[in-house]
Amino acid sequence: MPATSMDQLVSLCKRRGFIFQNADIYGGLQGVYDYGPLGVELKNNLKAAWWRSMVYERDDIEGLDAAILTNQKVLHYSGHEDTFSDPMTDCRKCKGRFRADHIKDGKCPNCGSTDLTEPRPFNLMFKTNIGPVDDGSSFGYLRPETAQAIFTQFKNVVDSTSRKLPFGIAQIGKSFRNEITPRNFIFRVREFEQAELEYFVMPGEDEKWHEIWKEARIKWWEEQGLKREHMNIYTTPKDDLAHYAKACYDIEYQFPHGMEELEGIANRTDYDLGNHTKAQEEMNLTSHCHKNPDSTQKLCIMSDDNKWVVPFVIEPSMGVDRGVLAVMTEAYTEEDLGGGNSRVVLKLKKHLAPIKVAVIPLKKNNEQIMAKCHEIKQNLLKLGIGRVALENTGNIGKAYRRHDEVGTPLCITVDFETIENQPESVTVRDRDTMEQTRVNVADLPNYLRNYFVE
Ligand code: ATP
Repeated sequence: MPATSMDQLVSLCKRRGFIFQNADIYGGLQGVYDYGPLGVELKNNLKAAWWRSMVYERDDIEGLDAAILTNQKVLHYSGHEDTFSDPMTDCRKCKGRFRADHIKDGKCPNCGSTDLTEPRPFNLMFKTNIGPVDDGSSFGYLRPETAQAIFTQFKNVVDSTSRKLPFGIAQIGKSFRNEITPRNFIFRVREFEQAELEYFVMPGEDEKWHEIWKEARIKWWEEQGLKREHMNIYTTPKDDLAHYAKACYDIEYQFPHGMEELEGIANRTDYDLGNHTKAQEEMNLTSHCHKNPDSTQKLCIMSDDNKWVVPFVIEPSMGVDRGVLAVMTEAYTEEDLGGGNSRVVLKLKKHLAPIKVAVIPLKKNNEQIMAKCHEIKQNLLKLGIGRVALENTGNIGKAYRRHDEVGTPLCITVDFETIENQPESVTVRDRDTMEQTRVNVADLPNYLRNYFVE
């Protein structure tokens, strides 16, 4: 298992600017975090890798970016108003409130008291007033999952893209859940980001596609640097399935606090489209919970044999924040360099690294060297590889240490030789091997292109 502890990660995240507690100066807002200068890059790179593999590399998936504020009817007909709740238990002694399934041996996890209430349902959705009048009659919700807008926009996407089954709609965005006990840093939070695919298939082909997506998603996580032996596939027992699911696999990861869910891959059947469609009685549905007199659209598609069908849907749903935590856990390494020296190095896959290349002058504020650094940086930016940072600290050792810690794959040092000798050359240092190679400035773009474009 990764030897990384949560304390090591939390400390690195704060020290180097990956993740901060939200509203820190006012004592924080529980279960809410902000991504700092390097965290935003890492998170964006992870999302870009997901989007690329889902939308760009395939020919059967479209993208969507829907609103966070959600019409109450959507979450009524989806079943979330009725069922999206966790049973909760209160401790009468310390007044703490806990998820019933987190209570071990009938004891309060906070104070150990056995004086607990019976579990009661607690709705996890954030309700909010919409419009100028706060009289309780016009409210909506912050979405608890991104998926619902994919179902409610199903017809618009099909009509505007002429899609046939099987095909998918992918979306990345914020979701909100009023978690009873947010904990374990960014693992369980109240505001988080999801990357969700709804993949629509012919009824009867759902089980086959469920297996295909499970394998595809394990492979993708491996490409993000997670070792297969640090992942586990958990098959949710029937009794624990979400209200919409017929079957579900969880891809679990060995986080610092234990083996826990990173991504869920659910077979949601025709449950959601079936709940949101007009004329349910004509649709030959296998599962839905509410009669729907409000919907104005039939949510179906023409099959190859010219019949209208409500497709089944397979949903790989990943937590982006849990993804960031997983790739950082896997990458965090403390290396003994001998002679009493050690270093922390974040061995992130290069496509995820927040800074791709650091250009470092050997001497601080030297005009000629700085001018060359600027020129090199501008030329490298044209490659489109991501963030190229320019340092002006004048302390090479410190700069290397800092860039090892934040996972920068390459450091380029510009020294006096660079500006005095012809052809101009620089030192390129590799994060993982610490090897230094002399490269001609004119060859740098090709060198980096080969290095970064796999
Ligand atoms: P859990 O059992 O851990 O509460 P869940 O099964 O309710 O999670 P899903 O509804 O399947 O989660 O959501 C899909 C993904 O969204 C999860 O695999 C997880 O990565 C992420 N996610 C869900 N809730 C949270 C949260 N409170 N904080 C961070 N990520 C979350």
